[in-house]
Amino acid sequence: MNKHAPDVEDWSAKAAALQIDDRPFIDGERVEPLTDQRFDALSADDGHLIASLPDCGEADVDRAVAAARAAFQRGVWSDQSPTERGRVLRRFADLIDRDGETLALLDTMQMGMPIAQSTGAAPGAAEIVRAAADIADKAPDLLIPSAASAIALQIRRPQGVVAAITPWNYPVHVGLGRIAPALAAGNSVILKPSEIAPLALLHLTALASEAGLPDGVLNALPGRGSVTGKLLALHADVDCLAFTGSTATGLMLMHYASQSNMKALQLECGGKSPQLVFDDGGDIDALADALVQGFVHNSGQICVAGSRILVADALYDRLMAALIARVSALTTGRALDPTTMLGPLASTVQRERVARMLAKVGDGTALVARGTTQGGGPNEIAPHLFEAHDPAASLVQEEIFGPVATVQRFRDAEEAVRLANGTRYGLSATVWCGDFALSHRIVRQLRAGFVTVNAIARPQPADEGPMAGEPFGMSGTGAFGGIAGMQAYTRLQAATFHLA
Ligand code: ADP
Repeated sequence: MNKHAPDVEDWSAKAAALQIDDRPFIDGERVEPLTDQRFDALSADDGHLIASLPDCGEADVDRAVAAARAAFQRGVWSDQSPTERGRVLRRFADLIDRDGETLALLDTMQMGMPIAQSTGAAPGAAEIVRAAADIADKAPDLLIPSAASAIALQIRRPQGVVAAITPWNYPVHVGLGRIAPALAAGNSVILKPSEIAPLALLHLTALASEAGLPDGVLNALPGRGSVTGKLLALHADVDCLAFTGSTATGLMLMHYASQSNMKALQLECGGKSPQLVFDDGGDIDALADALVQGFVHNSGQICVAGSRILVADALYDRLMAALIARVSALTTGRALDPTTMLGPLASTVQRERVARMLAKVGDGTALVARGTTQGGGPNEIAPHLFEAHDPAASLVQEEIFGPVATVQRFRDAEEAVRLANGTRYGLSATVWCGDFALSHRIVRQLRAGFVTVNAIARPQPADEGPMAGEPFGMSGTGAFGGIAGMQAYTRLQAATFHLA
């Protein structure tokens, strides 16, 4: 047989052959939804109807919450030793590896990430779970020094029932980023994946059961944010919301928590992340390549996308010319074509949203480069680069979530920091600088939870070790990643035992 690397035809055939199971996963099994409401899941690539999915309503949500609560109370997971939890999570990770291609293909079909990138990123998904398994025992109780007549115990307990409400931009990775640490800490979890790309996560939830996760510990409900998400966020028996998504939705979740039962909140919201380039930031061509990747990767649909490029006066003109050349040469393509580097946006709604933002040009920004679209799908949008003269311009201030960046000039480090910190967001920042003393000083002045120096910011900084970041400003609240990120799914209890 003539073996060749899979081409677009092969991937399309594999996509067509996928068995789609869109049922909720509750108490260890796929169940028929109790709702009769449905919503359409469309292919990001060509707009065809993939499936009409259940829009889980109150009865489904109650059932999932009851299963999660019962599992928590039984202690089948919450009272397990962290070592045992780690063992199950590692088996879960192995199954994610086993099904990596299916998960990647489902994500590509649903949200348009080019197949080369989704399959390339597949091993990283299992690593997120292994990283959580490794730190399952890093939320220890502490014996606190006290009077001899007492024992003071600082106990760490799981939060209880966690609802994880997750986005479409990296469905599997971000979904696991929220559920894996919550599980490692001993919680029961109900996952509500984005309505735009829920299928890979529904598949993945069933893998956790296959790995030996006790029934009811991880449940998943397909449904729209305004329906299933809202019901979970308002539910009186959910203890914690773990969210990644837009700032607007994060604010709504705060509101729902305050309207219901004061849920603990882990909210990772929008960003408008700067990339600061100092005049000793390195070779112009290498810098330009990295800066462009920093904002076009995943078609800009990354919360840490470096969409505001801030450049030192001394290299502004040369770097701008190199950026213009690269952005002008970019073309989009079909998601299932393995040669595509830039895919479509996840949905027509998102494409229209980005197009509306682009229409705001003129308020202190000027278009300097535009790529092309060539795949012909309904959600493609060309990369755009703007020069920004007004730091208050909407293209500088508002998160776009598309392959769009602005370039601004700075005269000195003070101005660079002022511009970098000049939005309501504070998620991530990238600094390109050859002077360690300067970059160290700059980093400590940046309002950003995740900072990368001299490399492209990655969506999962857990790769670099057990570090956590906390978003500033309206990029959210809570700790994400590493040990502190896992501990955020626990709550402290102070217990004093008087002995006499
Ligand atoms: P994004 O556009 O990045 O997906 P959203 O904030 O719209 O960001 O969506 C992130 C997640 O939040 C999705 O799972 C979505 O269904 C959910 N969501 C949206 N609106 C609400 C809401 N009102 N209540 C609860 N969840 C919501």
